Amino acid sequence: MRAARLLEPGKISIVDVDVPRVKGCEVLVRVGAAGVCHSDVYFRKGFFGDVSTRDLGFPIPITLGHEISGTIAEVGDEVQGFSKGDNVVVYTFVGDGICHYCRSGEEQLCINPRHIGGYVDGGYAEYVKVPHYRYLFKIKKLSHVEAAPLTCAGLTAFRAVRKAELDPSKFVLIVGAGGGLGTIAIQVAKATSQAEVIAVDIREEALEAAKKVGADIVINGRTKDVIGEIKRLTDNRGVDAVIDFVNSNATLSTYPNALAKRGKYILVGLYGGQIVYKSPIIALTEMQFIGSFVGNQADLAGVLALAEKGLVKPLITKVRKLEEINDALDDLEQGKVVGRQVLIP
Ligand SMILES: [Zn+2]
Ligand SMILES: [Zn+2]
Repeated sequence: MRAARLLEPGKISIVDVDVPRVKGCEVLVRVGAAGVCHSDVYFRKGFFGDVSTRDLGFPIPITLGHEISGTIAEVGDEVQGFSKGDNVVVYTFVGDGICHYCRSGEEQLCINPRHIGGYVDGGYAEYVKVPHYRYLFKIKKLSHVEAAPLTCAGLTAFRAVRKAELDPSKFVLIVGAGGGLGTIAIQVAKATSQAEVIAVDIREEALEAAKKVGADIVINGRTKDVIGEIKRLTDNRGVDAVIDFVNSNATLSTYPNALAKRGKYILVGLYGGQIVYKSPIIALTEMQFIGSFVGNQADLAGVLALAEKGLVKPLITKVRKLEEINDALDDLEQGKVVGRQVLIP
């Protein structure tokens, strides 16, 4: 089969490899679509910020791709509830199943992770081996192209919005609103809370995308007095939550100032910025800084249910061939992508 493999840092090549064999509880999925995530830009480069992926334990060579939908091609002899021909998405943040975090339902935080498309071969290939059928979710109305981005962009956005604890009386500010995650987070926030959604991005086409998927107000982050503008829009109170999908020095030095008392700053982006903030303000306002990393199986179930009901639609901007993987990552790296790109192997 064809697979897009990272053979050395900086270089993904299309190579011919054997179709994986499955046994026991394992399942072979014919990949229908694989979403292109920003973390694949870092994997290709070999660095997250200034930390090398090798030091983090990520192997090379590897087939990347962790946003996977497809059709079951083969099941091991102990698989239950799934059969050949089922249309599925894959929960790829696989752990060892036995550490403290796996046992408490937060497998994505496993201390011995085995993420598909990070630690083991992923979905930028014709077929992918899933280590256990419990990582599969059947899809009904959703197409493979619509469903694939829900498994990373979708569940990450869903979890971040859940941590924001919104309700109809609250305001949420979404930073980096026009990207793959931001456009889903806007829809999740509206569908689950009816909170007032303010969207910030620095690209005009991204602001248009944010508006299109349901943001109540869009603001260009390059606006002169962006915090003053946010304060005016929130009766001078500020927002109850910021969800920062960027986390650069620029966003982290600006948007904490938009928070209302008891406001939550949810950090999702991996751009590599540093937080420097006045501690008395944190104490006096009871503001909170909260990290959020991808999501658990419940988060995936939640965002899939919203999507099956038509309340969340990933913004697919480009459907490309597997062979275009490097172009897709180049476009993402250069900030040219609004919404999500999807590869068809
Ligand atoms: Zn991802
Ligand atoms: Zn674990």
